[in-house]
Amino acid sequence: MALETYNQKRNFAQTREPKGKLEKGQHNRFVVQEHHASRLHFDFRLEMGGVLKSWAVPKGPSFNPQDKRLAVMTEDHPVQYLQFEGHIAEGNYGAGDMRVWDTGQYEVTDGSDPVQDVNKGRLRFRLMGEKLHGEWSLVKLGRGDNQWLLIKARDEFADPTWQLETVLPIEEKYLPKATRSKTPHQVVTDQVTDKTPKATRHKSTGAKVAGKPIPVAKAFAAKKLEGDVVVKVDKHEVTLTHLDKIYWPDEGYTKGDLLKYYFEIADTILPYLRGRPLILKRYPNGIQGHSFFQHDVEDPPDFMETIALEVERQPVRYALCNNLATLLYIVNLGSIAQNPWHSRVDDLHHPNWIVFDLDPEGQNFSLVCQVALAIKEVLDGLSLESYPKLSGSSGLHVYVPIKTEYSYDEVARFAELVAKIVNQAQPDLVTLERSLRKREKGEVYLDHLQNAEGKTIVSPYSVRAKDKATVAAPLTWQEVEKCPRLEDFTMANMPQRIKKKGDLFQPVLHNCQTLDDAIEQAEKLWKEVRPKKSKSVSR
Ligand code: MN
Repeated sequence: MALETYNQKRNFAQTREPKGKLEKGQHNRFVVQEHHASRLHFDFRLEMGGVLKSWAVPKGPSFNPQDKRLAVMTEDHPVQYLQFEGHIAEGNYGAGDMRVWDTGQYEVTDGSDPVQDVNKGRLRFRLMGEKLHGEWSLVKLGRGDNQWLLIKARDEFADPTWQLETVLPIEEKYLPKATRSKTPHQVVTDQVTDKTPKATRHKSTGAKVAGKPIPVAKAFAAKKLEGDVVVKVDKHEVTLTHLDKIYWPDEGYTKGDLLKYYFEIADTILPYLRGRPLILKRYPNGIQGHSFFQHDVEDPPDFMETIALEVERQPVRYALCNNLATLLYIVNLGSIAQNPWHSRVDDLHHPNWIVFDLDPEGQNFSLVCQVALAIKEVLDGLSLESYPKLSGSSGLHVYVPIKTEYSYDEVARFAELVAKIVNQAQPDLVTLERSLRKREKGEVYLDHLQNAEGKTIVSPYSVRAKDKATVAAPLTWQEVEKCPRLEDFTMANMPQRIKKKGDLFQPVLHNCQTLDDAIEQAEKLWKEVRPKKSKSVSR
């Protein structure tokens, strides 16, 4: 088995797909990729013999044992293709979008050699993916030389009611003419990617989209959020789908709960998103399901503003979340947390805040709070106000709002200087070492490298794709002194907290500080405290 056919079909100067190389070792991985090429299909790949044996399945896998899905064997793909996602440019082989639909491990049911089984034309295996479970088989048909059937075995995972759901919306061109609508959207099921899929799976709501638009406030006032609903937001209509899909299996929070949270706090969060290019991280099946980054938005709805930027000589159309309709639309896509740039479209090359990102990496959170306070002390000394927020994941962010007149380079240099001064003041507590391996126990990583154009940081009030639906919560410095617990700030209680305390982060939007004096002072300070022989910091 070799990868010559694979390599011959591709021009690696034009595609970001990996070059074909045989791999040693056998990890029994599998992937199903959703491929929006000239025809929509699903590429089913099993790792064996140093390559990925590959089949194109036009209709995709089905949990219904009666669905015998045609699977056309295609050329072997390199093992690195397991993670491949992205856009294959026009004019290339397989041009179109590719997304990982499911991935995990497989085992051959009777313990035989999968390569031999494939050669014999019959393979039985068990899948342990995020979506696909249980026993399956691939059986070669007599006719043709590459036609197989992919069939679900009758076991506890079999489910005749199961329906496939795509990760990306289905483009109009793939739909039969009769069913084309104004807003193409996903094939609908309420499949929950849980460890025990059968027990917790909800009944399908079908592909219908609720007809008449409901005023958005009325929709979210409903006792139970379920199915699909079209909401009216100002003069726009936004289709919200699968409201009862479980996004947090442990807490039982649904996608409807998440949408309702963002609806309730929209006025508070929107000022932190407006005008900033967003990088979407989508979790279409909740926090335990597969996720993927999306920079480029195709076919944005008319209420969504976008900005086209050139990234690595490719045009990328970024979403801008400038209104409530857009916020609900992107949350409906499975964007649990919102990740804006540090600068706005009116002045993209000049950030309006500096961020220090504190990452505990398994350290005690009280150490993180101590480091945050050490940063505050240094910034206080430079006469700069700073504002802390929980990342909602495991760390803490310290923001310094600034005038939009410093370049990303200037800001990055200043952030590094501050980080070095903090490190010098607290050498046992703080590390600037990026490599996890080289960090010492009890040290907190102070990351000042986030201050670059095109980088993002999770916005205040974003829900995180973490247990308990924790939120990136702005704090007071008094709260940092008392070392709060991440899990006390969640989607469930944040609206109450905002009502009580207001928006603690508001100065970050308005306190446009000048850096001129601070840069000068910091340079002077560093000359005084700089160690004779500074420890090298690897990059
Ligand atoms: Mn394909």
